Amino acid sequence: MTPSVSRQHRILAVTNQKGGVGKTTTVANLGAALADAGARVLLVDMDPQCSLTLSWGLRPSELSATTCEVLADPEADLASAVRALGGPGARLDLLPASRRLGDLEPRLAQATAKEVYLREALGGVLGEYEVVLIDTPPNLGVLTINALAAADGALVPLQPEFLPLQGLGDLKATIELLRRYRVNPALDIVGVVATMASRRFLLEREVLQAARALGVPMCATRIPRSVRFAEAPARGRPLVRWLPDHPGARAYRRLAEEVSDVRAAA
Ligand code: ADP
Ligand code: MG
Repeated sequence: MTPSVSRQHRILAVTNQKGGVGKTTTVANLGAALADAGARVLLVDMDPQCSLTLSWGLRPSELSATTCEVLADPEADLASAVRALGGPGARLDLLPASRRLGDLEPRLAQATAKEVYLREALGGVLGEYEVVLIDTPPNLGVLTINALAAADGALVPLQPEFLPLQGLGDLKATIELLRRYRVNPALDIVGVVATMASRRFLLEREVLQAARALGVPMCATRIPRSVRFAEAPARGRPLVRWLPDHPGARAYRRLAEEVSDVRAAA
């Protein structure tokens, strides 16, 4: 099975309930790569830790309109909460997060129809964008469920040195429930992407083989391990924009080609 993310997969939840596997890095770099290839892209920060927002040089505490306000008030204007990230790309915007999202989370978990708040909020702006990438927290709580309910597909970064397959099985089961209960009948995992990869590890090959055995499509692109990824956020931009010729930046541009029909979207 190879990933097939065509135009109908334009909203991707980048998710894995394990922390530190490269979700936020993938959203930032893949988003920039897609925008630079000509797509209009919206990034959505659904993590109360605000890593994506911070990595673009924004200070969450100074933002009054964020995912929290948009989810808390169905009448809130999402478009006015969105920040333009600039750069050479067609259009790259961010719906930022603030730490208030963490305060909202338990209230949202009690709300009626709690799964669909993000989907409803995004509805009004979808015509503006060809690709929406949603960054998620490292759990399968109500914020991640909102991302999955809003998405056409899940893109799963997986750090192959660890044993993350239990997590992948749990994610598959959650997606199955969202389908069965008609929260998102068409949702599926569109691809697992190996991050922080190095072919030298036998374990890596075993893990990727096991992921295939779970029936989950693997992306052909592997993101190499490099400390440059961790250095980029301090510069307020992802590696794709900071060092575009770096092998890690090139890998994310290949992933952009792989997961989206950019030429069709441009
Ligand atoms: P998550 O969002 O899943 O918690 P992050 O994207 O924040 O993961 O990545 C965790 C840490 O690993 C960060 O410090 C990040 O800069 C770093 N990192 C991400 N991708 C890579 C990579 N390919 N190689 C090396 N370090 C990486
Ligand atoms: Mg993160």
